[in-house]
Amino acid sequence: MLSARRDDQQLIYLADDYSSDVLKKWRTDHSFYCPVCKEQVDLKLGQIKIFHFSHKRNHHCPYRGEPESDFHLEGKRQLYRWLIRLGEDPELEPYLPAINQRPDLLLREKNNPAALEFQCSPLSYPDYKKRTSSYIGIKIEPVWIIGANRLKRVSDGVFQISDFLRQFSSYTDPPSALLFYCPNAKAFIRLNHMTVFSSSISCAELRYIPLKRAKRDTLQRKKDTFCPPESWPRVVRNFRLKPKQRISKEVNELRLLYYEKLQVTLPFLPSEVFLPLSANHYFSSPVYIWQSYIYLYLLSRSVVTAREIEKVIVKLVKTKKIKIRKMFISEHTLYTSTLEYLQGLAVIGTIKEGEKEQFITDQMSFAFLSMEELLKKDNDIHLRLKKNEKA
Ligand SMILES: [Zn+2]
Repeated sequence: MLSARRDDQQLIYLADDYSSDVLKKWRTDHSFYCPVCKEQVDLKLGQIKIFHFSHKRNHHCPYRGEPESDFHLEGKRQLYRWLIRLGEDPELEPYLPAINQRPDLLLREKNNPAALEFQCSPLSYPDYKKRTSSYIGIKIEPVWIIGANRLKRVSDGVFQISDFLRQFSSYTDPPSALLFYCPNAKAFIRLNHMTVFSSSISCAELRYIPLKRAKRDTLQRKKDTFCPPESWPRVVRNFRLKPKQRISKEVNELRLLYYEKLQVTLPFLPSEVFLPLSANHYFSSPVYIWQSYIYLYLLSRSVVTAREIEKVIVKLVKTKKIKIRKMFISEHTLYTSTLEYLQGLAVIGTIKEGEKEQFITDQMSFAFLSMEELLKKDNDIHLRLKKNEKA
């Protein structure tokens, strides 16, 4: 940790950039104590790790923080310095006994109090949920900033986004952008318009914000106005042209179903089951799985409502053909996802939106297309949806 109380009761923040000579003298003349458990701590002034305080072995600190890497300590230090430069009054590692939390940084602004968590180590979904709700419970906005060492880029606009990362955008509906910080590059990275393809691959628009240019509102959780990312058709193309050697049980079930119903193979799945939607976020199954089950159901109907489809999905979730994600949001998610998909199909002209939440599907039919035609259609659909979002 970067904070401790000196024996003269002064709270010391190592992030305040004291010179090593000053700190060495303090270490000889003073002792330091953990602000939480009041036990004596060591001031570590080594060459390798950045200067920090450390509990002694066998300590009994009630607040067991996560082990802090240098990456974490340095990031926290930089974010603290940045907030000072912005004229803010950040508290470093304050202990909040009411909720037994110790955020990395706290801004007690009257109108907009915020707790900054620079998360560099794994965090389970229950812990994320517990911590997020406890901040909200005491009217402090939790700002999750993920260590950029956890961000894996696959190609331009394509990222490996694990469930661990996805949970940080699950606190709003629709999901918010993901915010990362890299102390090595001294920059924030924001992933906007995140669109999930599968449980590991997502497309997004990356924004790089150097700390020098970042403002207080960089931390503001913005509702992400959804727009399909540029990279989306490339990921679909990859799926079609580079089939996987090994496929999961759920994909295999879908493969057999397509073969039985339409006699098509996975690379030739209809373009309509790859819609880049904000709703993709709510499913753990790949986009083409949940959208396919709805698409195939629609082929057998002439009129449907989103409520009717929702019931179909609930059954498929129970039989584990479709997997949904644990989300930190309201319960009507399955319904809104269904509705979003139906509206998406209406935008691209596959079905028509009627009155009283009805969708007319009687003109819908499946046609065999060549690979070239499919790839063109994938692109056209992407453009139509994009144009629609911008309109
Ligand atoms: Zn302690």
